[in-house]
Amino acid sequence: MTRSANLGFPRIGLHRELKKALEAFWKGESGAAALHATAAQLRARHWGLQHEAGIEVIPSNDFSLYDHVLDTAVLVGAIPPRFATIADADTRYFAMARGTDAAPAMEMTKWFDTNYHFIVPELYRDQRFALDASKPLDQFREAKALGIKTRPVILGPVTFLSLAKAKDGGFDPLDRLEPLLPVYEALLAQLAAEGADWVQVDEPALVLDLSDRQKAAFETAYARLGKAGPKILLTTYFGDLRDNTELAANLPVAGLHIDLVRAPGQLDGVLETLPADRTLSIGVVDGRNIWRTDLDAAFALVSKAWDHVGPDRLEVAPSCSLLHSPVDLEAETALDAELKSWLAFARQKLEEVSALTLAQKRGRGAAKATFEASAVAVAAHRASPRIHKPALKARAAEAIPLERASPFAVRRDRQKARFDLPAYPTTTIGSFPQTGEVRQARAAFKKGQLDQAGYDSFLEQETERAVRIQEALGLDVLVHGEFERNDMVEYFGEQLDGFAFTKNGWVQSYGSRCVKPPLIYGDVSRPAPMTVRWSAFAASLTDRHMKGMLTGPVTILQWSFVRVDQPRSETCRQIGLAIRDEVLDLEKAGIGIIQIDEPALREGLPLRRADWNAYLRWAVDCFRLSASGVADDTQIHTHMCYAEFNDIMPAIAEMDADVISIETSRSDMELLEAFGTFNYPNDIGPGVWDIHAPRVPGREDMEALLRKAARAIPPDQLWVNPDCGLKTRAWPEVKASLKNLVAAAKALRNRAATV
Ligand code: GLN
Ligand code: ZN
Repeated sequence: MTRSANLGFPRIGLHRELKKALEAFWKGESGAAALHATAAQLRARHWGLQHEAGIEVIPSNDFSLYDHVLDTAVLVGAIPPRFATIADADTRYFAMARGTDAAPAMEMTKWFDTNYHFIVPELYRDQRFALDASKPLDQFREAKALGIKTRPVILGPVTFLSLAKAKDGGFDPLDRLEPLLPVYEALLAQLAAEGADWVQVDEPALVLDLSDRQKAAFETAYARLGKAGPKILLTTYFGDLRDNTELAANLPVAGLHIDLVRAPGQLDGVLETLPADRTLSIGVVDGRNIWRTDLDAAFALVSKAWDHVGPDRLEVAPSCSLLHSPVDLEAETALDAELKSWLAFARQKLEEVSALTLAQKRGRGAAKATFEASAVAVAAHRASPRIHKPALKARAAEAIPLERASPFAVRRDRQKARFDLPAYPTTTIGSFPQTGEVRQARAAFKKGQLDQAGYDSFLEQETERAVRIQEALGLDVLVHGEFERNDMVEYFGEQLDGFAFTKNGWVQSYGSRCVKPPLIYGDVSRPAPMTVRWSAFAASLTDRHMKGMLTGPVTILQWSFVRVDQPRSETCRQIGLAIRDEVLDLEKAGIGIIQIDEPALREGLPLRRADWNAYLRWAVDCFRLSASGVADDTQIHTHMCYAEFNDIMPAIAEMDADVISIETSRSDMELLEAFGTFNYPNDIGPGVWDIHAPRVPGREDMEALLRKAARAIPPDQLWVNPDCGLKTRAWPEVKASLKNLVAAAKALRNRAATV
C-alpha cells in the first residue's frame, strides 16, 4: 500500500530545548547525563508526534546534537588528528564543532542552498576509516523500545566525500571512496541485523552538476551498498535530477526519493526511467517553507505517480527533511487567524502528507475535511487584499532606470569634490558592539519595562558615544553603530508592509544557533522612513561624514520565508523599491554616503550553474533599483562578508556600487587577485581585520595586508576597513584594533607622499 513517510524532523525542539541544554552543558552548568536526557526526550516526543500525525515511515538518526555531517565524520572515524587524543566522546565531538584553546574548530559552511550550516569533514592523505555505529544503532533501538519501528537516515558516501575537504592537499576526497565503502557496508549490515528493513541514504549531491568522477563514484558505491543488507531509499532533494536522472534512477537500490516541490517537472522523466521494481518516494509537501500545501495540486502528482508505479511502491513525503521548517504552528498564538490559516509548520506538514496518502489509499472522501480546509485557505490566499495590492504591483511594473545618472568615473570626481577624503580612506561596516546593556535595554523595552522615550534616550547615548569614539580614533567615514537593531533583516521587516513575524518559528542555523526568519506573505511596501531618524541624529552630532546603513533587497529576501505565489524576483523587486525609497529619504536628509549591505547575494546562487545567470540578472537589478535613484555625488557602498568572488565577478561589477567592502583578511588578500585580473572598476575596501577572531590585529599586520592589496588593485581605489560589522566584539578590542587600522592607513598615506 502507498505509505506516508517523513525524511527528518527538526531537532531543536519547539521551545529550543536542545539549544538550552547544549548551552548549559558547554558552560558547565549541567552534565552530559542531563544533555543526553533532554536529547532523548526530544526524540521520543518527536517520534510520538510523527506517529500521531499519521506518518507510517518515521525516521531515526535524523536527530543530532550538533550537525548530521559532523555525525557522519564521527560515524566513519574521520576524526582530524588534532582531536584524536581527546578520549571522552562528547568532549571530542564538541571540540570538533567548536574548537578548543589548543585546536581550532573544523570549518563550517552552508548546506546546499539552505541557511543551515554543516561542519566540513576533513580528510588527510593517510586517511583511514573505522565504523562507530553506536549513534544510529542506539537511536533505532531507542525508538523500537517506544514501540516505533523507524527507518534510519544516513548521509551517503558520495555526498559525504563531495562535501569533504582534503586537508593536506593534493588529492581529491573522492579518492577515498574505496576505503570508505566497507565502513558503510558494515553499517548497513548492522542496521539490518538490528531489524531495519529500509535505510534512507541521503545523496543530495545528485541534484548538482556532477563530474564524471562523481558519477562513477555513485555507480561504484551503490553497486556495493545495494547488496549490503537493508533496502536503500536513495534520497535526493533541493532540486532537479536533470542530467543525473538516468544515473539516479538506475542505481541498484530499492527506492528513490525526489523533490517535487522544487522540481515538479522531473516527475515525468523519473517515471519513464525508473525500473519497474523500484519504490518511488515523492516529496510533495514543502520542507523548506512555511506555506500550507495546495492539497489538490499535490494530489494530482500523487495520483500520477500512483498510476505509474502502482499501489505497492509509492511513498508520499515532504520534499526534504523538515529540519528547515519550524516545529508547530499551534504554538503561534499571536498570529491572526487568517494569516495562520495560510501556514503549515513541521507538524502540520506531516498531517498534509498523511491526508494525501489516505486520499490515495481510500479516496478523497477519507480526508475530506483536510482537503476542504486546504482549498478554502488556498483560495482565500489567492484573493486576499492583504496580499495583493494593485497599486504596489503597478509600481513594481513601472520601468525605472537601473543605471546611475553618470558612469563611475564621473561620479568619482563629483564625490571627491564633495567629500574630500584622503587616500586610503577609513571606515567600518556599520555595527558597533551590541553589549549586554544594549541587549538588556532592548529586552526591557520589548517587555514594556522601559518606555519609548527611555529607550530612545538610551540609544541616543550609545550612538553619541560611538560617534565620539570614532572621532577620537580619526576614522574618515563614521557610522551610527546600529544599536537600535536586533538583526539586520528583522529590523527592516518589522517596518515594512507585507511582512509578519512568528513567536516560535525557530529554525536551526548551526549547532545551538537558531534563526527566526520573517514571513514575506504579501506585496511589500514601506509606509514610513525606517532609518532616517538614527542616521540623521548621528550626523547632527559631528562634522565628519556619516554613512547611512541599509540591508539590501536580496539579503532581506534570502533570509526570510518568501511567498511562493509569485516569482522570488518579483518579491525582491518590491523590496528593492522600498529600499530605494529609504535611500532617497536618507539622501534628502543630507546623508551623502549610504551603504546597502548584500551579504546574502552569493548564497542565493542556484545549485546548478546553468541557472546562475538568470538569478544574478534579477538579483543585481534589484540592488541597482535600490541604489540608482541618487545624485552623482551621493556615494553608494555595499558590503559582502565572504571571500569567493571569482566566479561572480562580472555581476559584482554590474552592481556598480561606488565602494564595496569585502572579507579578505582570512584569505590573506588572495581574492584581490580576482579583482585585479578582472580590472574591477570601482573602489574596494578589502577587510584588513578578521573580526571573527578575538584578536587585536597589529598596525604592521594590516599595513602588510594593505600593501599586498595595493599590488593587485590601484591604490587610489582602496579603502581601509574591517571584514564585517563589529557587533559581536567588545569595546576594548574594537578601540585597540581601529586605532591600529587608522595608523596603518596613515602609514600608507605617508609612504605614498614621500615617494
Ligand atoms: N552592517 C552590518 C553590520 O555591520 C553588516 C552585517 C553583515 O555583513 N552580515 O553588522
Ligand atoms: Zn559582513
